[in-house]
Amino acid sequence: MNNHNLKVKFLDLAVPDEDRHLLLAAIDRVLKHGRLINGPEVMELERELAIRTHRNHAVAVGSGTVALYLALRALNVGKGDEVITSSMSVAATANAIALTGAVPVFADLRKDLNLDPDSVEKLITRQTKALVPVHWTGRVCQIHEIVDIGKRHNVPVIEDASQAFGAELSGRPAGSFGDLACFSMNSMKVFGACGEAGAIVCNDEKTRELVTTLRHNGLKNREICTDVSLNARMDTIQAAILLQRLAKHEEVIQRRIEIANFYNERLNNCEFLPSEARNRRDIFYTYTIQVDDRDGLMEFMNQKGIETKIHHPVLLPNQPAYQPASGEWEVASHLVQRMLSIPVHEKLTTEAVAYIVKQINAFTKKASQA
Ligand SMILES: *Cc1c(COP(=O)(O)O)cnc(C)c1O
Repeated sequence: MNNHNLKVKFLDLAVPDEDRHLLLAAIDRVLKHGRLINGPEVMELERELAIRTHRNHAVAVGSGTVALYLALRALNVGKGDEVITSSMSVAATANAIALTGAVPVFADLRKDLNLDPDSVEKLITRQTKALVPVHWTGRVCQIHEIVDIGKRHNVPVIEDASQAFGAELSGRPAGSFGDLACFSMNSMKVFGACGEAGAIVCNDEKTRELVTTLRHNGLKNREICTDVSLNARMDTIQAAILLQRLAKHEEVIQRRIEIANFYNERLNNCEFLPSEARNRRDIFYTYTIQVDDRDGLMEFMNQKGIETKIHHPVLLPNQPAYQPASGEWEVASHLVQRMLSIPVHEKLTTEAVAYIVKQINAFTKKASQA
């Protein structure tokens, strides 16, 4: 096989022809009925999301960031409070906490890049008002343990399930475990819109009502503003697109799992491979390996035309915005030097996947002999 010139993109957001026609038809229906905000597609999407996350309610919002912010507001988190979250996440997770006026406290990780429950429990104080575990890489974290910790200390749990729509643990879906859960459906996510989108899921009607008020400038009805908030509604067009994407979500997950299994079986000398355990289903938002010479491997892959990424090179507690940061992140500091995300998106060809394996194995073999 001569694959000199193979170029492998980390992500490919261009929409293939057959999907494009479906999306255009869905958008056209919205343009015709004209309910561009809070249209029937938004309500249909909310019903679907609630069913698929085993919840009573879902509230569609404009992004994953506002989903987290409004979920925290619904729990009355604010000034003087602390919220414990993962030291490894996107800025959005910590920003949502900080924007309420609360202080984000960063817990350490297990080797699978997800939260270490012991670290979470150690960081609980009288000020702790919520726990925000992240299901990083599209794998449900040790959520049973974290929910137990929350119960023991009487602290509610909000899952940041942004990367994990469709992931499962013990037959239960991501988003079904905490008091509330939040999703991002921005265009890079495995379940993504053609732009920005997010959702909050919950069980009680009071929370649904409050979040629905908060997502529309705190307006209880057309004229009465009961809460200081912002505009965080989802466009009907994005909801219509997401309904089309939802119909194909299972297919997308299956292809990602197939690629991940191929990597699991064939990659050599990588210390950690996110293998599929029996009681869980990971959806592989990212497939992240850990190697000693990470920067060397990244450069080597780049020379071979394969795009890789580090998700993310700066830990949240090291971000300038959250100084001085509190918590503990020793394991995370080690992992962040070694991790590399390789392409795992559903549009990869079998040839590309084999090419990626071949190049990584060539590099790690040389490294192990050096
Ligand atoms: C994507 C993401 C978010 C933010 O979602 P947006 O829709 O981009 O605002 C929050 N948390 C995690 C873990 C994410 O991956």
